[in-house]
Amino acid sequence: DIVDFNKFFNRIIDRFEMSKSKNVEFQRHISETPCYVELDTDKITQVIDNIISNALKYSPDGGYIRFGVTAQEGILKVMISDDGMGIPKENVERIFDRFYRVDRARARSMGGTGLGLAISREMIHAHGGKIWAESEEGHGTTIFFTLPYELDEAGEWD
Ligand code: ATP
Ligand code: MG
Repeated sequence: DIVDFNKFFNRIIDRFEMSKSKNVEFQRHISETPCYVELDTDKITQVIDNIISNALKYSPDGGYIRFGVTAQEGILKVMISDDGMGIPKENVERIFDRFYRVDRARARSMGGTGLGLAISREMIHAHGGKIWAESEEGHGTTIFFTLPYELDEAGEWD
């Protein structure tokens, strides 16, 4: 499907904002200008759902989740940032591995299988994009992913 990514992303965020049970503030840095991307909407919805669920799960009450999108030279870059417990430096790369969870005590109390980000990575790669994380233990985590989009000759949106 070809969708305006900004609208598509906002709708997913709306769904979480309406149903969230935690007191977490959502901050959006998403342009009003349409940004057309070809993607499998079911799969990318699953990716974003998992990233937002994680951000909510690992955020404290009173925290925030920040959402951003930038588009440059045929690459759309999405970021979802939280100010939660974070991930120790030596483990950041491994969160995209199957069944990997940062620590078992944390995993037990939080539920889940540890597959969410491994599946997300496969889906982003299948779309020609990349996904990575930056995190500081005790301060928060940011997940980034990219998706390519088509520019016409003038470098304008199609
Ligand atoms: P599932 O998504 O299958 O329900 P999960 O959320 O534990 O389970 P992933 O989404 O793959 O699995 O995440 C892997 C691990 O990475 C998590 O168990 C958690 O330890 C860590 N993690 C992911 N996102 C965050 C985040 N925003 N803040 C802190 N830790 C995180
Ligand atoms: Mg998850």
